[in-house]
Amino acid sequence: MSDPIKRVKGFADMFEPESTAFTFLENTARRIFGLYGYTELRTPVLERTELFARGIGDETDVVQKEMYTFPDRGGRSLTMRPEATAGVMRAFIEAGAAASQSVSKFFTYGPMFRYEQPQKGRLRQFHQLNCECLGPVEPGADAEIITMLMHFLSEIGLEDLCVEINSLGDKNCRPLYRQQLLDWAAGLPEEELCPDCRRRMHTNPLRLLDCKVPACQALTKDAPVMIDHVCPDCRAHFDEVCALLDKNGVPWKLNPRMVRGLDYYMRTTFEVVSNKIGSQGAVTGGGRYDGLIHDLGGPDVPGIGFASGMERLAMLLPETILKRPDFYIAVVEDAAMDCAFELAQKLRLAGLRGEMSFSAKKMKQQMKTASKLNARKCLILGGLEVENRTVQIKDMDSGEQTEAALSDIARFFE
Ligand SMILES: [Zn+2]
Ligand SMILES: [Zn+2]
Repeated sequence: MSDPIKRVKGFADMFEPESTAFTFLENTARRIFGLYGYTELRTPVLERTELFARGIGDETDVVQKEMYTFPDRGGRSLTMRPEATAGVMRAFIEAGAAASQSVSKFFTYGPMFRYEQPQKGRLRQFHQLNCECLGPVEPGADAEIITMLMHFLSEIGLEDLCVEINSLGDKNCRPLYRQQLLDWAAGLPEEELCPDCRRRMHTNPLRLLDCKVPACQALTKDAPVMIDHVCPDCRAHFDEVCALLDKNGVPWKLNPRMVRGLDYYMRTTFEVVSNKIGSQGAVTGGGRYDGLIHDLGGPDVPGIGFASGMERLAMLLPETILKRPDFYIAVVEDAAMDCAFELAQKLRLAGLRGEMSFSAKKMKQQMKTASKLNARKCLILGGLEVENRTVQIKDMDSGEQTEAALSDIARFFE
């Protein structure tokens, strides 16, 4: 006999309850995002490599070290998408959508691929939910997408969330600020910074601010921040976004150290943080990327969007949100089998979810199965019950057991 074939390292099979959680996330996303005019866009998993080099940035770790890139049989360099936004932009440009509509709103979800180190618990295939709003420059668009994201997160049962928000300025004010930051960083003791920051000091000084290494954080705690140096237009945009969030009852706070590494990110940038999981608790994040479509060879269309890791959302879902089976039918004597079969179908036709045992088994074993399935009620049928047209109903939470007439069973599920 040959050895069974194993899955590829870094790739996971998804059984329930995670698969159930994913279905729930997808259905809720479709419903809530739809309320705001978002339609689903499904783009291919495979794209030309240069799309990501241009869309994510040649210099980023993702493009340099983490992409699944390979030549196809025709010798073209292709890449399994490491994120969704670049593909959405490519599709938008290719369809000429900018010409026909002033605002385009897309949501998308699906697998993404990065060549991560699986020993750190990171999967090479992971999943994201994305939304992109293309066209509007107005602060209302920023406030709407953040409000929608919070609506979605509350609908999936997450509580204690806060939006952290910052402005990254624009091409008027950011270069001036960047120079100020460079001048300030020149005074830092370079040898005390982490290797990444030593490099960033000269190439991408903004990223000094979001380094997670404590020594770097201590050294840069008095660094000038963008929000104190934005031009009046950027300030007005930021204030309007915050005012609209207040009007919608969305809790937010300024995080002046939140940055993005790439030049096309501008003005509003945000993360949703869960107070329950602490400072590392970013649930999702996004921002405005007004130069991206242009950088990818498209028209000058601004945009704002966010991405959420679905594995993380699934992990945070409250258990109660995933619907439990309503019943499990325990058949304890063969004589009850036909009756159990009929009863199960009658309940399902009434919209109740559940299963039954396909052969008579001992009570103890049946109870084990019922609790493993997390059924709300276990319905026990033996010969005597069938004769009397009754059933024993055991509430699996309270342990309480009652007898009911078979004809009267529906009311126990109300
Ligand atoms: Zn650092
Ligand atoms: Zn500005």
